[in-house]
Amino acid sequence: MNRSSELFERARQVIPGGVNSPVRSFNGVGREPVFISRAAGQSVWDEDGEKYTDYISSWGPMILGHTHPEVTEAITRAAAKGTSFGLPSRLEVEMAELVCSLVPGVEMVRMVSSGTEAVLSALRLVRGFTGRSKIVKFEGCYHGHADSMLVKAGSGLASAGLPDSAGVLVSDTAMTLTCAYNDLEALSDIFKAESGNIAAVIVEPAGANMGVVPPCAGFLEGVRDITEKHGALLIFDEVITGFRLGSSCASGYFGIKPDISVFGKIIGGGLPVGAYGGRRDIMSCVAPLGPVYQAGTLSGNPVAMAAGLTALRILRDNPSVYEHIEKMGNRLIDGLNGIFRKNGIAASAQGIGSLSTVFFTGGPVMNYRDAKKSDTDKYARWFNGLLSRGVLTAPSQFEAMFISNAHTEKDIEHFLDAAQEIVSAGEIGTSE
Ligand code: PLP
Repeated sequence: MNRSSELFERARQVIPGGVNSPVRSFNGVGREPVFISRAAGQSVWDEDGEKYTDYISSWGPMILGHTHPEVTEAITRAAAKGTSFGLPSRLEVEMAELVCSLVPGVEMVRMVSSGTEAVLSALRLVRGFTGRSKIVKFEGCYHGHADSMLVKAGSGLASAGLPDSAGVLVSDTAMTLTCAYNDLEALSDIFKAESGNIAAVIVEPAGANMGVVPPCAGFLEGVRDITEKHGALLIFDEVITGFRLGSSCASGYFGIKPDISVFGKIIGGGLPVGAYGGRRDIMSCVAPLGPVYQAGTLSGNPVAMAAGLTALRILRDNPSVYEHIEKMGNRLIDGLNGIFRKNGIAASAQGIGSLSTVFFTGGPVMNYRDAKKSDTDKYARWFNGLLSRGVLTAPSQFEAMFISNAHTEKDIEHFLDAAQEIVSAGEIGTSE
């Protein structure tokens, strides 16, 4: 028994499923998880000393690569000055000023400790501001595990085949209306029926929790128009896209100003941080300025702020990071598609910038229904083939691959060589 197996055995006795978040279980790919002991740059090492090129990147935060020296130093320096005060501190102000200066439409921002917390706070806020109760979400978009958002959510729920979660009351989700991603007609119909009741539409500006599903041309513009026309607010859930598509986030990338933006992952530089921000008049409703209550003992934690601020400043000052990760992303997608095409494999890689997913379906994936057509058994064989060749990707069909600034052309070549070997060896099945 190797060390990962030993640890998993122990973990299963004391942690539900042996993991602290479902997607880490590797259930979707039919094997036990690898336990990571350390990381550096684009690499992680498991407990048995095996090295992998890491395309999970902590599910997004590690855009600069693991253990970036400046981020690590900022964390160490901040920790030496005190790890939590429960009172305001300078770095919170600097972080808020930076986020407001970078992201279109964000005039005020409130720090929290996770993406889930940011989403549920934003939902309370839009309801408090508009006096309306319903929220529209898109099928296959994941917005954390707040009760009202566990309806047709992607991510770990998609893999587990759970349409929903036990413990969530019908009344918790009764105010959540769902709509197919990339389907403006369906959204218009929902608004025709419910117009005056809808507080907000929440959307991942590029879907990344049903695998990566970019928005079709005109989709986000259409969502913006429809919400504006009906007096509803638009929430961009930028937990994955924020500071990944560019330093001005998806709103800058697509040139669309939402009313509220939600952040997580990269904003914490690898430490637990979330945030929500937006129009001053809306954010002014948040306590203690306004009547919408929201609080957090560790919100704006000085060590987390130090890590996040350092990461965001590096991203702001180095546009070449985005050029590099986008170039690597395109090379990976094009290379994989070339291999699939040449070998007659019914699979395609799709994505946006440094985010991508391989789907084992014939056609392009535009929404959750398309994503679910992917052959997940083939995905499991694909994943295991890559893992055995030192390439660590998402242990679930319905997640993204994340490229960091530490990934090199050589890494992408290694990935493509591994893919070619897997295909040539017939590991994912016969060509069709
Ligand atoms: N929103 C999106 C788009 C996410 O991808 C996630 C997590 O992956 C969340 C919200 C929830 O964030 P967290 O896991 O920090 O609670």
